[in-house]
Order: sequence, then C-alpha cells, then structure tokens
Amino acid sequence: MARVVVVGGGIAGVYFAYRLLQGVNAEVLLVEPKPAHEFVIGIPMAYGGLVKFKDLVFPLSQLKRIKHVWDYAKTLEGRCVRLANSSDVCGDYVVLAPGSYKVGNAEYWSVEGAERLFEKIRTARAIRFIVSEFTPVMGFQEIAYAVKTRFPDKEVSVHLVYVSDDYMFLLEPWKAKAKEIGLEVTDEPPPLSRDELHISVPAVRPHPLSAGLDVRPDTLETQYERVYLIGDSALLRLGLPPIGWGSLWQASIVAQAIASEISKGYIEVTPDEWSSQNDPEAFKRWLTYRMTTGTPLVYLKGLYQIWATRVFASL
Ligand SMILES: Cc1cc2nc3c(=O)[nH]c(=O)nc-3n(C[C@H](O)[C@H](O)[C@H](O)COP(=O)(O)OP(=O)(O)OC[C@H]3O[C@@H](n4cnc5c(N)ncnc54)[C@H](O)[C@@H]3O)c2cc1C
Repeated sequence: MARVVVVGGGIAGVYFAYRLLQGVNAEVLLVEPKPAHEFVIGIPMAYGGLVKFKDLVFPLSQLKRIKHVWDYAKTLEGRCVRLANSSDVCGDYVVLAPGSYKVGNAEYWSVEGAERLFEKIRTARAIRFIVSEFTPVMGFQEIAYAVKTRFPDKEVSVHLVYVSDDYMFLLEPWKAKAKEIGLEVTDEPPPLSRDELHISVPAVRPHPLSAGLDVRPDTLETQYERVYLIGDSALLRLGLPPIGWGSLWQASIVAQAIASEISKGYIEVTPDEWSSQNDPEAFKRWLTYRMTTGTPLVYLKGLYQIWATRVFASL
C-alpha cells in the first residue's frame, strides 16, 4: 500500500487527507506537534457566540484511518521527514502543509490564543485593529465583524496604516461591507486611551520548512518529485494571500493527483468547486468576489458542521 506522509494537521493537511482517502486506500501518517486539529477558519464564530472555542478543537486521538505522529518536522531529506526527536518518517509521497509563520504578539490564529484575546476584548470599550505590515495575518476582519455583531455597543475599528497591494485588492471591496455593520475603517488609529484595546495585526511569512522549495502553481509539486507544498506557505510562495479557501483548493488538487497516480498509474485531476481555480489570476478574482460578498458567520457554521461530521469524522 502506498504511504503518504502529511506534515501539518491544519486546514490544508486534514482536508488533503480526507480527499485522498475518498479516492484511494493509502497509509497516511500525519506529523503534527499539537494533540489536536484546530478549525482556525471558525474562530470568528466563537467570537460571535455561535460555537464555543473548545468546539473548534478536534483531538487527533480520535483518528481511525490515519496515524498521528506527535512531533515537529524539522527538515526534509528526499521523501523523508526528520522529526524533532531525530527519527525519520519516509513515504512514497510527502505533502507539506505546515501553515505559515506568524510574527507578532496578537495570537488569534490558534484557538487558545484567540480565546485569551477574546477575554481582553470582552472587557474593552473600544477595540482597534492596527494593520501596519506588508503581509498581515488575515482573519482580523472576520473577528472585527464578529465582535461588532455580538457587542454592538463597543467601538470596533480597523486602521489600514500600511498593507501590500496584494492585500489591498482583498481589503478594498471589504471596506463597504465593514461600513454597513458599523465598523470604522481609517488609516491612522487615534491615540490609545483608557478602556481601549489596540491590537497590532501580526505579519505572515512562509514556514521555515518551505525554505528553498519551489512550488509549481498548476500541480503544487516542488522541485523534488512526489513532494508537494500546500496551504498558507504555498499560497505565499505563489504570491497569493494565505486564505483557507486557497488551502482547500490546493489540498483538493494534490489529493486527486496522488490518488489517481496510486490507483491508475497516471495523474488525472477533475476540476471541482475548489480546484477549478487552478489559475492563480482566476483565483485572485474569485477571492475578490468572496471578500466582496463576505462570508456570513452562519455560512461558516454550515462549513463547520460539514467539517465536524464528514471531513474530520471520516478520518
Ligand atoms: C481568525 C482567522 C479567521 C480566518 N477566517 C478565514 C475565512 O473566513 N476564510 C478563509 O478562507 N480563511 C480564513 N482564515 C485563514 C485560514 O485559517 C488559513 O489560511 C488556514 O488555516 C491555512 O491552513 P494551513 O493548513 O495552511 O495552516 P494551519 O491551519 O495554520 O495549519 C498548520 C498546521 O501545521 C502544524 N505545524 C506547524 N509547524 C509544523 C512542523 N514543523 N511540523 C509539523 N506540523 C507543523 C501546525 O501545528 C498546524 O496544525 C482565517 C484565519 C484566522 C486566523
């Protein structure tokens, strides 16, 4: 049976494993340093009160079809992953999905960090998200929406001091939506005053594991045969914003490619809801559309339920 090593049990890694096992029987080893998978996209729902923070955490001890290797991946040697404990995990395929590296203190990208930040937000009168990074960690806009919706009396504002054009194309259409629900969006923030919380939005970088890897935009294969890079780091390397929809798109393409190679001996990918966007420019246009229409929390709840009952539950 073919062995597939997946590094990173986040949105990309888990969705990849789900799609792969839908198409083929394979031995899947998931290298993940945390004891649980976190449904990061759903964090704004917890801010909005639609789910509890703990509902976004799926213990990896519940996995039935794939094996959790509870460790950090340190380096890649061919199709072998060297772990922090110095042992190697090798496969016929390696799919790297370690997410991105974040630089900054406001930790809203992990469930635990997001809950800590929520406690500070709960007691503040005004919450100001200050964006002054070339490539900010996305998700602050959804959190701002959710906080304003749940606590309409709080002042919630976003200050776009400095952002790269690659992000502004996403944030411009979002501004109108923000205004509709009473979120103020300006450039410079007002001086910090009592009862206010200023949140410096962190910067995002490719994960160190992806250093030196080239990734082909059509197949997501790196320069090493049967070694793929998907998720936030792959998106950053392709000049695309690191957004969960992009991770689903990439996970879907790679899962189909590997499943067909294992079962038929050649690579065949059928475009579907996500993978039909295999042209980076078309993908950017599609993302702009999504940002214009927004993702209402209630839709996210639908995605969360599918994730809990079909995606994670099947693994
Ligand atoms: C608050 C918030 C809201 C968001 N909302 C949306 C949204 O509405 N729509 C949308 O499209 N996107 C959204 N995003 C973005 C989306 O969550 C990310 O793009 C997505 O999680 C990226 O998936 P990933 O698997 O690449 O990374 P992650 O989900 O971050 O997972 C990476 C995994 O790799 C593991 N890992 C790290 N280092 C190693 C290592 N050395 N070895 C092994 N494993 C490792 C980590 O522990 C983690 O489990 C949001 C993000 C945030 C923070």
